[in-house]
Amino acid sequence: MKHFYLIFLFLTSIGCKNYTRIGSVRNNVCKTLEKKTILYAVFVDSDATHPWSEYDINSTMDSINISINWLEKQAQMNGVSLDIILERGENLSKHNAIPFKEDFKYQTLSGTLFKFPDLTKGINLVDQWSNNVSKDVARIFPNDTSKIVLTTNKSNDRERLIAKLRNNYKTDNIALIFFINNYFENEISVAFHTSSSSETEYAVVSNKNPSVIAHEFLHLFGAWDLYLSPFDRKIFAKSKKRKAMKKYPTEIMTFTYRDIDSLSISPLSKYLIGWDNKLAKGEGKMMIKRRWKLLEY
Ligand SMILES: [Zn+2]
Repeated sequence: MKHFYLIFLFLTSIGCKNYTRIGSVRNNVCKTLEKKTILYAVFVDSDATHPWSEYDINSTMDSINISINWLEKQAQMNGVSLDIILERGENLSKHNAIPFKEDFKYQTLSGTLFKFPDLTKGINLVDQWSNNVSKDVARIFPNDTSKIVLTTNKSNDRERLIAKLRNNYKTDNIALIFFINNYFENEISVAFHTSSSSETEYAVVSNKNPSVIAHEFLHLFGAWDLYLSPFDRKIFAKSKKRKAMKKYPTEIMTFTYRDIDSLSISPLSKYLIGWDNKLAKGEGKMMIKRRWKLLEY
């Protein structure tokens, strides 16, 4: 199992009609994938992962740039103006060194996330890890004096880092991604809180594959997983994922481990990341319940 993701839905009542607002759409810090967007990469060492060498960091930066070029090309083909700028945190407490250091509570990312049967406990532990790293990263920037850059989320170190990044780079779109060096190990990549209204979203990537990086990045802007995973236990869930895989045979949210140049973004994902104002008839049907009337933006 390489990947894991949670979806939440909200029902929104507008006027006298009931529309379904999908919780990940135009939500949280990363709303619509357009205009100036910062992909903020934070490289993190821990005792249980391979230390980041300069070579590892440079080759991962190359992979991130391949993802960015692909995403910008997709945007251009859809008439969306998108400029993704890659920035990375540099650890000022170490001389001329980039990686930050923070151990997971139970050795690894997946070990920590899945430690307890109650998944929320594992998520809390990884959140804590991300907050500890964020606190160190935030020291790079001067104290934030601007009021408008704060999110409405509860105040924690990750939220404060995002506020500083918004202030520093003069844009709301901050995609915060932590990279751990697990290239030769069987570790997962995860996007958290993409549908949340109380926690800022972020991703942890343990892979240098440009398709995986773009996939996690798209999660932050609201896209869903469209492949079969061990979490799809119900027959209905399995059958709708199979239909999605068949209908969108080159979708990046499905076939994440293929060469990125063979992949595309389906109409369903385009709606979810805000590239289309409405979901065209017949598109994404298998994932959308019949009684839902999807919100048009
Ligand atoms: Zn995914």
